[in-house]
Amino acid sequence: MIVRKIALNGFRNYEWETAEFDPGTNVIYGQNAQGKTNLLESVYMLSTGRSFRTRFDKELVGFGYSSSEILAEVSSHEREQTIRLLLQPGQTKKIQVNGVRKTAGELAEVVNTVLFSPDDLNLIKEGAAQRRRLMDQAISQIRPRYAEILAEFNRLYEHKTRILKDWREKPSLLDTLDEFSDGMCRASAQLIRYRASFAARLDEAAAPIHREFSGEGEELSLRYTTVSTVTDPCASAKEIYYEICEHQEKHRQAELDSGQCLTGAHKDDLDISINGRAARSYASQGQTRTAALSVKLAEREIFLAETGEYPILLLDDVLSELDMRRQEFVLNRIGGGQTLITCCEDEGISRRTGGKVLFVENGRIRG
Ligand code: ATP
Ligand code: MG
Repeated sequence: MIVRKIALNGFRNYEWETAEFDPGTNVIYGQNAQGKTNLLESVYMLSTGRSFRTRFDKELVGFGYSSSEILAEVSSHEREQTIRLLLQPGQTKKIQVNGVRKTAGELAEVVNTVLFSPDDLNLIKEGAAQRRRLMDQAISQIRPRYAEILAEFNRLYEHKTRILKDWREKPSLLDTLDEFSDGMCRASAQLIRYRASFAARLDEAAAPIHREFSGEGEELSLRYTTVSTVTDPCASAKEIYYEICEHQEKHRQAELDSGQCLTGAHKDDLDISINGRAARSYASQGQTRTAALSVKLAEREIFLAETGEYPILLLDDVLSELDMRRQEFVLNRIGGGQTLITCCEDEGISRRTGGKVLFVENGRIRG
């Protein structure tokens, strides 16, 4: 998948600007606060209809504008296609592909992106929520059904948490507790199957990438962990469901006492290790950054296997965190597919790439 051209009208700090991209590597450079991440954000929106920085469309609309428009020409599934997004705060956003109205979920059938931002550098060391988000975002793009189950799971989780917090004041809430617990067990069973199979593929794809990227033959491995009673997370949803119910029964009282949901896919994680040791505890700064990027590049391989095309890789401001050799890998050796990389001007990075260079200054793009 390739974004050939994008036009932004009243989007963030872009009044009316267009950019053309190379099908390979594109380095977007400029000083701080000029619009580099905003440009990446607009490309990301082509794949999800949403920003990775805010849930509120009004923040995306340029100051002084009442609406914001993103128009793009993309090449996907061997076709040239056009995407139009119109954001009007207070109204549902309008999404069109080749002039036909689409939902945000349907955009994933046209464009996929893999984003790596400075926040993702914490993927290895931070809490499990980051790693679950990685799985959720990726699987949702590949399997729209997953996004539906996840939304249902989150709805049940919120309800159940409210019951567990408030039942002492309102004992009647307990009438529906078991129903919510059962719904969460069912939804968890399905999420777990998807996540386990995704994690296994990610592990397989990430290991060789990390070996090359680290240059030191480091062995990266990823292992999915879930509810302790689940013996095989790749078993049928029915089998997993029974095993989760077992956990639920054992923890019912503890949930009431603690006021927290203790059973379900909301506690899943990915155990990441380098050379057999837990990366979370032992990896150096550089190792954790490299491992995080390897995981993202592995995600790209899964998209390729699923859709027959590489997704667009968006790398926001990550180069400065890497040493020269690792920078060189990112700039020139990520094969296949299109990459958009943002960086700050003073690092000379734009001279070290064979790709296209775009210069961003105060909401204008040159290159
Ligand atoms: P850095 O190198 O610091 O990451 P950047 O070039 O990535 O900088 P952006 O995040 O793209 O910077 O933001 C560029 C500018 O856009 C900022 O000054 C920001 O305040 C401004 N901006 C953000 N939202 C809007 C908006 N809705 N309307 C107008 N300007 C906005
Ligand atoms: Mg930025």
